[in-house]
Amino acid sequence: MKEIVFATNNQHKLGELRAIVGDGMRILSLSEIGCHEDIPETADTLEGNALMKARYVKEHYGYDCFADDTGLMVDALGGAPGVYSARYAGPGHDSEANVNLLLENMKGCSDRSARFVTVIALLIGEEEFTFEGRVEGMILTERHGEAGFGYDPIFQPVEADCSFACMSPEAKNAISHRGRATQKLIEKLKTIDI
Ligand code: IMP
Repeated sequence: MKEIVFATNNQHKLGELRAIVGDGMRILSLSEIGCHEDIPETADTLEGNALMKARYVKEHYGYDCFADDTGLMVDALGGAPGVYSARYAGPGHDSEANVNLLLENMKGCSDRSARFVTVIALLIGEEEFTFEGRVEGMILTERHGEAGFGYDPIFQPVEADCSFACMSPEAKNAISHRGRATQKLIEKLKTIDI
C-alpha cells in the first residue's frame, strides 16, 4: 500500500484526511515516524509554512511527505488572522481564546465576510508541489454547534445555512478548504508511483 507522512499530530486533521483519502493509501502521522519536536513554521505565507514543514520532515526523516497550513482571512480585519490564525490570541493560547478574540474584534462589524484557505505542500522524491483550497463564508456573531475544531463554531460557509461545527465531517469535507486542497493532492498522488 502507498505510504506517506502527513506532517501533523492533530488528530482532527488526520481523521479528516484519512476519511477523504480512503483505503488506497496509508497516512502516517509525525508521532508514528518518531518525530516529536516542534517543526518551525516561521514563514509569513501559508505556502511558505507548508513548504517549511514538509521540507523539515523530508530532510530529517527521509520520508515523502505533505504538510498543510491554513488561515482564516476576515475582510473587515484586513485579512487577519490569516497566516497567524493558530496564535491569534498569542503564543500558548488555544482555539477557545482565538475564537473569543475574533468575536471581540468583530463586534459591531456589518461586513462579516471571510474565507478559509489551505495550502498543501507535497514533497515526493526531488519534486515539490503545492495545492490550494478555499471556502468563502461569514463570521457568525456567536458560537453554533459542537463538532469540528478551531474556528468551526463561528464560520458559516456560503454553501450552508449553519456553521462548520453544525455539519457532519462528511458534509464539511465536501466543501471545506482542506477538503478542496486535499482533492487536488489526491489527484496528483494518483499520477505518481510512491
Ligand atoms: P493549521 O495551519 O491547520 O494549524 O491551522 C491554523 C489555525 O486555523 C488553527 O488555529 C486551527 O485551529 C484553525 N483551523 C485550521 N483548519 C480549520 C478548520 O477546518 N476549521 C476551523 N479552524 C481551522
